[in-house]
Amino acid sequence: MTIVSEQRTGEMFRRAEEHTAHNYHPLPVVIDHAEGAWMTDVDGRRHLDLLAGYSALNFGHGHPDLLRVAHEQLDRLTLTSRAFVHDRFASFTEALADLCGKDMVLPMNTGAEAVETAIKVARKWGYEVKGVRDGAARIIVASGNFHGRTTTIVGFSDDPDARDGFGPFTPGFVTVPYGDLAALEAAILADPASTVAVLVEPIQGEGGVIIPPAGYLRGVRELCTRHDVLFAADEIQAGLGRTGRTFACDHEDVVPDMYVLGKALGGGIVPVSAVVADRDVLGVLRPGQHGSTFGGNPLACAVGEEVVRLLATGVYQQRAAELGVLLHDRLAAMVGHGIVGFRTRGLWAGVDIDPNVGTGRAICERLLERGVLAKDTHGSTIRLAPPIVISADDLAWGLDQLAAVVAGS
Ligand SMILES: *Cc1c(COP(=O)(O)O)cnc(C)c1O
Repeated sequence: MTIVSEQRTGEMFRRAEEHTAHNYHPLPVVIDHAEGAWMTDVDGRRHLDLLAGYSALNFGHGHPDLLRVAHEQLDRLTLTSRAFVHDRFASFTEALADLCGKDMVLPMNTGAEAVETAIKVARKWGYEVKGVRDGAARIIVASGNFHGRTTTIVGFSDDPDARDGFGPFTPGFVTVPYGDLAALEAAILADPASTVAVLVEPIQGEGGVIIPPAGYLRGVRELCTRHDVLFAADEIQAGLGRTGRTFACDHEDVVPDMYVLGKALGGGIVPVSAVVADRDVLGVLRPGQHGSTFGGNPLACAVGEEVVRLLATGVYQQRAAELGVLLHDRLAAMVGHGIVGFRTRGLWAGVDIDPNVGTGRAICERLLERGVLAKDTHGSTIRLAPPIVISADDLAWGLDQLAAVVAGS
């Protein structure tokens, strides 16, 4: 370790706050470099990353295979726009379509753009294929959702921070309680001829890793099929290995009509998102009707294809499932000792902190002092999503720190 001067953290943190909009409330740490599950700050202190960029870093920091393809691509070709075709486009889209068992891919950049794409495709499909009356398309969403930050998307959020002050909002969305099939069916039956899609997260990440009741996703699938409605699964945070399967929908052997992907698809290197669906759905778009300057660029495709290759080995899904057992067992031992409840699926957990111990934020600040980085969501819940490459020993050590902090020691 080199010279430790904690002033660098303080000074850089203050400067970062001074010249940026305060749309985030970061923990007071300034990262310099990272490898695997460990990040090193500007004062040389090492921190175990238990957030992994909200699942964007499922393969860890600086995965050698991802770095290699990114470096090679950087030196060769980075951008063409979609006005021209480049040599990485076909192989990425083929590989991703194959991973999803679908015909077609529409690549975008951020998750919110992929959700917007799914909304536009569902509406177009509704008018052109289902025969919905012009301007009448309805999309059903769930309470507690998080699908991104565009004006359309925040309009169907029920989080006041996400929504308040940003209206007027796009019409055409109906919200039903998450996990409630009867409510979903009633909402469809209120106007089945105009309902084009059900858009849900198979597990609500931002909501606190909320896992719906068993059979919910299967029920959504059945209702959508019965009423000729598209099932759009927002797997941006839940998908791509995090839960111990390739997709969270796999846990119920459910195949949605549209996979909405992002975060880990970019390997922690570049933003890569996509909507993946069959030809009868994505085929409704024609030239000029949707697009993005950077969507499907050569660097994104090179990294995305390597991400798909890593996932096709099945190694990461298996590892998330195995480490998930450790995560689950350790958290179970903390119940009644500073945590009041938790939910896990694979290497992903929502941990509800005993309010007498402190807020989620206070716990994360104390974890930072012990060299562990995690993030609170919704007051008293902490989300744990370590890089899947984390070692079992490091994970156990990180959870020891959490146990100590919530026990008040
Ligand atoms: C992060 C996230 C998004 C938005 O992705 P961005 O890349 O931040 O725009 C959408 N849906 C879910 C489920 C997410 O977790």
